Amino acid sequence: MQGNMMDVPLTIPFILERARSIFAGREVVSLLPGGRDEAGQPIPRKHRTTYGEVADRALRLAAGLQGLGLQPGDRVATLAVNSYRHLEAYLGVPSGGFVIHTVNIRLHVDQVAWILGHAEDRVLIVENVFAGLIPAIRAACPKIEHVFVLGPTPAPVEGAEDYDAFVMGHEPMSRSPQIDERDAAGMCYTSGTTGNPKGVTYTHRSTILHSLASAPKDMLDVGERDCVLPIVPMFHVNAWGLPYTCAMYGAKQVFAGVFSDGRNLAGLLQDEEVTITAGVPTIWMGLLAELDRAKAEGHPYDLHRLERLVVGGSAAPESLIRTFEERHGLRLAHAWGMTETHPLGTASKVPAGVDERSDEGYALRAKQGRPAPLVFLEILSEDGERLPHDGKTMGRLVARGPWIASGYFKGEGQGNFFTMDGELWFDTGDIATLDERGYMHIQDRAKDLIKSGGEWISSVDLENAIMAHPAVAQCAVIAMDDPKWDERPLAVVVLRPGMSVTHEEITAFLAPKFAKWWLPDATLVAESIPIGATGKFLKRELREQYRGYGNA
Ligand code: ADP
Repeated sequence: MQGNMMDVPLTIPFILERARSIFAGREVVSLLPGGRDEAGQPIPRKHRTTYGEVADRALRLAAGLQGLGLQPGDRVATLAVNSYRHLEAYLGVPSGGFVIHTVNIRLHVDQVAWILGHAEDRVLIVENVFAGLIPAIRAACPKIEHVFVLGPTPAPVEGAEDYDAFVMGHEPMSRSPQIDERDAAGMCYTSGTTGNPKGVTYTHRSTILHSLASAPKDMLDVGERDCVLPIVPMFHVNAWGLPYTCAMYGAKQVFAGVFSDGRNLAGLLQDEEVTITAGVPTIWMGLLAELDRAKAEGHPYDLHRLERLVVGGSAAPESLIRTFEERHGLRLAHAWGMTETHPLGTASKVPAGVDERSDEGYALRAKQGRPAPLVFLEILSEDGERLPHDGKTMGRLVARGPWIASGYFKGEGQGNFFTMDGELWFDTGDIATLDERGYMHIQDRAKDLIKSGGEWISSVDLENAIMAHPAVAQCAVIAMDDPKWDERPLAVVVLRPGMSVTHEEITAFLAPKFAKWWLPDATLVAESIPIGATGKFLKRELREQYRGYGNA
């Protein structure tokens, strides 16, 4: 027997309409470039608007795009930073029946052009600071018919129109087109650390379910009374879905645009009374330095409203979590995910009965957390057997759920998807442990894992431990070839100013926490560690750099 409940389609126009009607007065704040200082650096200017105005302009954008003759499902690319205008595109493009394809601005222009061509984008919306790329992109991507520039430019840009004039030149779309909840709404390419990047297409349904599931207390804990500053970029994995989650629940949003340095961030967190912010560990390291500096100079920032700093993208060392808590009373909370998981897969909160600031609490907070409702995680052996959830056994992390990709654009990368017990699963490429209570702990990306004498060594565990050493600012551990053991760990460290460290000091520091065979064979000091377009260490590059080191 079927039940008698309405089958309401789960589509993005619902988020837009809800923000427009019941949260119309709630604020959206953006830092925009407002001229340049004497050194030629952009100076921030604060812009304030509301969900009411954002929604109105989003509907005008939707109508304008329809007027260009785009067909349902056509891709509209953005090459833009976090701002209210990008939020308009997030809401307006899918509400018009099109797909918003967010492109990573940190990629090389040739990679950008490759991605735009592969996605067959017909429209491109570009931040004014990147307008200089337009001629090269137009030359490389003949399928792009229209280019719009976000924000003012000193002179009209050839081959492009002004976005604001386009938006305000149209009446708001009065009725959404027919949208199937399984239609694509958004698109994002993976970073392509192995081979060419692959396109992941989010559906309207997956976006709605992801937004619903991200907000609860034990996930990101977002509500109308919150003020959220997503530092994670809107050009990569939808800024962890926060623009949609916040619009659905009416949280005030604050966007830092191109100003994501410690000083601007700390100023925004304080002045806008931000309650939740989200970013990768490198962002938090920059913020920590600024908070320390201000405190040492006797005028600390007032961040008493800030309830949690969500950290993901790569592992936050336990030492960083402790330092924020102990020095500044601020709570860092892990979340894990990837482009293919929309991205929220897990979020971390300590269970009932455990004190957040106890050793057990900190150890749990250094893990990536428990799966979001409707997300299923398993760890598998190399033969594809399910491994025990004992918090110790490492295996290949696989995921399943309504906002986990079921394939890539154009059917590429099928090897990442497989059937187990009659159900479709996605192989994340991560190596993790799961414990009895559901806590997942990332050990490594499979390709970064160090295989020594047939056993696995987690580079992430070693890095996190080494970064707790007072002389070390950053650390990446990579595999070096070894004639006897196949691979052995090599630690590359960047020192804090004025400090020094020896390999023996590092191994003595690690010895109480690790089995002897886990300890690195060498520690090298480097000026810097290469960082990729999504703010993570480029270990592949580092491995190239130190190839053959052990045999030299
Ligand atoms: P890529 O395109 O490099 O796969 P993603 O941004 O999709 O980039 O990154 C996903 C990967 O980032 C995950 O597979 C995982 O290895 C890593 N990651 C994400 N969040 C965390 C976290 N909280 N702790 C450790 N690693 C994380």
